[in-house]
Formats: sequence, structure tokens, C-alpha cells
Amino acid sequence: MAPSVAEIPAASTAQEASPNQKKNVVVIGGSCVAVSTLLTGKKILPSTHRLIIIEKHSHFHYMFAFPRACVIQGWENELFVPYTKVFEDAPDKGQVIQALATNITKTHVELDREIEGFGNKVEYEYLIYGTGARHPEPGNLNDHDTKAAAINRLKETQEKIKKSTKVLIIGGGAVGLELAVEIREHFPEKEVTLVHSREQYMLSYKMGMHKEIVKTLKKFGVRQIMGDRAIIPEGGFVDDFKMIKVATKNGQEVECDLQILCTGMTPQSDLLAKLSPSSINPTSRLVKTKPTLQIADDAFPNIYTAGDVADLEDVKTGGAAWGQADLCIRNICKMIANPKIQAKDLGTHTPMAPQIMLYFGLAKGVAQLKMFRLFVITADFFLKRFFSYNISAGRAWTWMGTTMSKETADL
Ligand SMILES: Cc1cc2nc3c(=O)[nH]c(=O)nc-3n(C[C@H](O)[C@H](O)[C@H](O)COP(=O)(O)OP(=O)(O)OC[C@H]3O[C@@H](n4cnc5c(N)ncnc54)[C@H](O)[C@@H]3O)c2cc1C
Repeated sequence: MAPSVAEIPAASTAQEASPNQKKNVVVIGGSCVAVSTLLTGKKILPSTHRLIIIEKHSHFHYMFAFPRACVIQGWENELFVPYTKVFEDAPDKGQVIQALATNITKTHVELDREIEGFGNKVEYEYLIYGTGARHPEPGNLNDHDTKAAAINRLKETQEKIKKSTKVLIIGGGAVGLELAVEIREHFPEKEVTLVHSREQYMLSYKMGMHKEIVKTLKKFGVRQIMGDRAIIPEGGFVDDFKMIKVATKNGQEVECDLQILCTGMTPQSDLLAKLSPSSINPTSRLVKTKPTLQIADDAFPNIYTAGDVADLEDVKTGGAAWGQADLCIRNICKMIANPKIQAKDLGTHTPMAPQIMLYFGLAKGVAQLKMFRLFVITADFFLKRFFSYNISAGRAWTWMGTTMSKETADL
């Protein structure tokens, strides 16, 4: 468990350092890991240090709502939140730098561009490696660095879905499941087939969750093919809206004029692999950690990792990333306060109980929640209070130190 704030040694009472005299705690990646780090870091990081977040996107991506935004138009701007306000209330506490980190040395993170006050590299005393994972578009818009480009990509997908008559979704993870239902809810005239390679949806969760999902998909008229794989042509599918027959490994055929991939994730660990090859799991490419969430390489006790890129048994969710990052920054504060601290005096990671809520259209959902040591599978009635057209995107604006409104949504 992460220690409570009270357990963290008090912030240094040394004379206040000016921002560029301060030592840097650098986070690579400006998503869930960074948000958790900054919310805790702003409170507990001593005044001798500042937080520098390096992120290639100009805006925070609220991915949780992407499956719906691929289908329903007109609110995409709410899902990309500017980083400009994050440290507006406390500029001495940190900065978000928009750049691609291109290399990590023992002392610096190198950037793909010049940044005022830094040049093309950022020195670090501590580093949190939070580069996450790539998923196929449009579930994740990794390669779209500006708000306009990311919104355009969502709009393109909306147009494709609108134009199609029979949609094949490949991959029945959370993204594929939600997208299938969104399409059927908004375009009941379109046929939607979901092909999933396993016999069970959401394998990390209880069987009851799977059963509720199957029932919900049936209600929405999604055709489900399980325990089978669609054969993807070399070079991928061509988006030309021609009606084609896609074969499956088990010999079925799906007629469709649009194919959407919602398969697997690829950890973005290459950057760290160059500095510390031994900390990379050769099979999964995830970053191996110690229980303290320092990377599993004794040469770098000052490098931590968390989130989708980390080799941890937690299910890969924003919630899990959040908890892990919180532990990283708390341990870093302990190390700053006492550089000779022993590993046994640092907090250690406890995997998070697998909990998730799937949004099935505007007024339905299925969730696995932990209540009083028990896992509860629950649907629509108890989840009502969580339903909103934008999947609670407003909270991302609060995390980023601002509020969402008609005036701010286009920032
Ligand atoms: C469509 C979708 C819906 C989801 N819905 C939910 C949900 O409802 N609830 C939930 O808990 N989880 C959900 N998840 C999972 C959740 O989004 C992830 O677990 C979470 O985002 C992981 O956070 P992260 O910070 O580890 O990495 P990521 O979110 O993957 O972010 C990594 C960041 O690092 C940046 N980056 C990478 N390399 C570099 C570099 N070299 N230089 C600069 N920047 C770099 C990327 O641009 C990116 O912004 C969903 C995921 C998807 C794809």
C-alpha cells in the first residue's frame, strides 16, 4: 500500500530555490501516470525540486470516451484538455513540456526540439517512466499530437461508420465491446459483428461480468463470434467501403464494408530499453519493476515506472496507473528527504483489485466493483449515477487545473 501523506517526511526547509535552481523529477508521458504524479507531487514535493512532465501531445487525451466519440459527433473538443493551466497556480512547482523524448542518459532526457529554459535536454535527479502503450487507432490517438489532428481523426471515424452498412469489429476487449454497442445504439440499421479470440470477455474479471456482457450485446443486436480470429490481410484492410467477406480461422465468413481493429496493446518501452536493457521483459516488452516500483535494475535506483508500460499484475487501467504513480512520487519524496534510505523503508506496490465499468451506450453499463472484500457485478440501475454523455470528461479538466465550459472547450 502507498503510505499516507503523514508518513512522508516534511518538505525540505532549505531556502526556497528559484525554478531553474531546482532539481527535476521528470515524468515521461503526460497521461494517467503524470496526472496522478502531479496531483500528489504538487502537495508533497519539497521546494528544492520541481516536476517536469514531458509529453508529445499538446493536450491530455481523455481516452475513456473515445469509443463513443468515434460514433457520436459534436463534443470531441471536450476530450482534449490543454496542459497550459496545470502549473498556472504554482509555476515554481513544475512545467509541462511538449516534446518527444528521444533518448534517456544517466542524467538527462533528450528532446526532439528546443524548449525555452532547457535547450534540447532536461536534467533529472529522479525519473518516472510513464510512456504507456500503443493501441490501434481509433481506440488510441497516439500519433496525433495536436488537438485539431486528434479531433479530425475521430471525425474521420465517425464518417466511416456513418457511411458503412455492415461493420466488423476485431477484438472484444473493453474498447471493442463499447464501440460495438455505441454503433448499434446510434445506428440500429447497421449490422455489427464482433470477433473475439477468447471464449470469455474480460478474462481478468469474474465470469459474471462475461455473462452480463454477452446478455447486453445480445440486447443491442451485436453479432458475437467468440473463440475465433478474423484473418487480417497483409498490409491491413483497405477503407474503400467495398462489401467484402472476411474469413475467420475457424472457417466462418463475415460480410462487411468497414473493419475496425480493437486488438492488443504494445508497450512503449524502447526508450528505456536503450538505457537499461535488463529491465525489459523480453517476452512482453513491459518494464520490470521492484516492489517499490523502481525499475528492476540496481544501476538506476532513481528511475521508477508505472502505468500501462509497467510489468505489474494489475489489470491495465487508468485507475491502476494512478495508484502506481502515486506510490512512485511518494517514494521519490522519501528518497529526496533521505538519500541513504533503505529499500525496506520505501513503500511497496500492492496490486489493485480488478475493477472496471463498461459504458454500453448512453444509459447502460456493466461493472465489476469491489465492495467490502467482495466483487460485485452490477448493471444499469446501480450505475445510473455514472452515466453522462461525455463519460465524465469534465473531471479531466479539473485534473489539468481548469474547468470545461463552452468558452474553454476549444482551448
Ligand atoms: C479507448 C480506451 C478506453 C479506456 N477506458 C478506460 C476506462 O474507462 N477506465 C480506465 O480506468 N481505463 C481505461 N482505459 C485504459 C487507460 O486509458 C490506460 O490504462 C491509461 O491511460 C494508462 O495510462 P499511462 O499513463 O500508463 O499511459 P498512456 O495513457 O498510454 O499514456 C502514455 C503517454 O506517454 C506519451 N509518450 C509516450 N512516449 C513518449 C515519448 N517518447 N515522449 C513524450 N511522450 C511520450 C504518449 O503520448 C501518451 O500520452 C482505456 C483505454 C483505451 C485505449
